[in-house]
Parts: sequence; structure tokens; C-alpha cells
Amino acid sequence: MQVTRRTFFKVCASGLGSSSIAMLGFSSNEALAEVREFKLARSSETRNTCPYCSVSCGLIMHSLGDKSKNAQSAIFHIEGDPDHPVNRGTLCPKGAGLVDFIHSPNRLKYPEYRAPGSTQWQRISWDDAFTRVARLMKDDRDKNFTAQNATGTTVNRWLTTGFLAASASSNESGYITHKAFRSTGVLAFDNQARV
Ligand code: SF4
Repeated sequence: MQVTRRTFFKVCASGLGSSSIAMLGFSSNEALAEVREFKLARSSETRNTCPYCSVSCGLIMHSLGDKSKNAQSAIFHIEGDPDHPVNRGTLCPKGAGLVDFIHSPNRLKYPEYRAPGSTQWQRISWDDAFTRVARLMKDDRDKNFTAQNATGTTVNRWLTTGFLAASASSNESGYITHKAFRSTGVLAFDNQARV
């Protein structure tokens, strides 16, 4: 084998790296496996559900910061939850890219309102958003709720408002959301995961 000056330095550098790792008591395979462990060792773990589709895979989100007063918490790594019965630690490419979704500059983090005829969205508070949604729903239901159809059959339906639920909900919160909205007479009920 012909060894160039460049190859010679590469071989020496990798040999030095391996022997240094071996001197610390690791085999090179163990040392490589430990890199991932060190990256996550001091992170806070939070469990959540992938918001993209109705498979609802379980996630573990790793964030920096120990929640002390001056520590700024930030999510830096997301992986599948190995204890979750749906995905057993796996994620599809969409779920595997969730950390970019979280830090996207286009991510909507607060309610916005666009007045009729306006081209501009304006930020509003959560209180204002909930009050406005509740007011509009109440007014619309009072105006359009149908208790009986033309033949006198009881139908109790409200066809002029629809509701889109979130796919990151648990079974329990999905069940309660469905019950609450069906009880108002809403028929147009769907899930964001199917959009
Ligand atoms: S990881 Fe993929 S399959 Fe699982 S919920 Fe997210 S989008 Fe759906």
C-alpha cells in the first residue's frame, strides 16, 4: 500500500484517538455509544404526543435548563417513546423532524384576529379569543339551532358551525371534546389529522 503524507497523518490521528479512548477504559464501540447518552444526560424529559396524524405516536422531548430561575428551557431533541404502546419508540420522518417544527419562525404561538375586509392579522389575548369564539357560537346557535325538522321529528341539530379537534389529544380528552360538541347539536366535527 502506498502511503501519502496526508494518509499518514489521518492514520496516526485515528490511531491516537482510539488508543486514548482505550486508555480511559472503553472499547471504541462503547465510546461511540456513550456520545448519545452524554448528549441527553442532563436534559429534562417531557412526554407528549405527535401532533401530525391520527396515529398519535408517543414522544419524549428533551430540553435544556433545570427550570431554575435564570435557566432558559429549550427543547433540543425529540425521539419516540419506547414505553408508548402505539409506536414503541419509533417515529416516521414527519415525527422525527418535530424539533424543527417547534423552532420554526412560522409557528403560530398565540391567537390572531383578522377583521372583516382587512388583510392584516392582529395579535389578541387568549381571553379575548375565547370570549369572541364563545360569543359567536352562542349567537349562531341561538339563530340556527333546529329542534325539529319539517315533519315534526326531533333532530336537535346545529348545522351552521363546525369544530376541528386536535390530533395530539389523549383518548380521554378526545372523548370529552366529542361529547361536549355533539351535545350542542354540532354535526360537522372532524380532526385536524385528516386535513
Ligand atoms: S410520528 Fe408519524 S405516524 Fe406517528 S403520529 Fe407523528 S406523523 Fe403520525
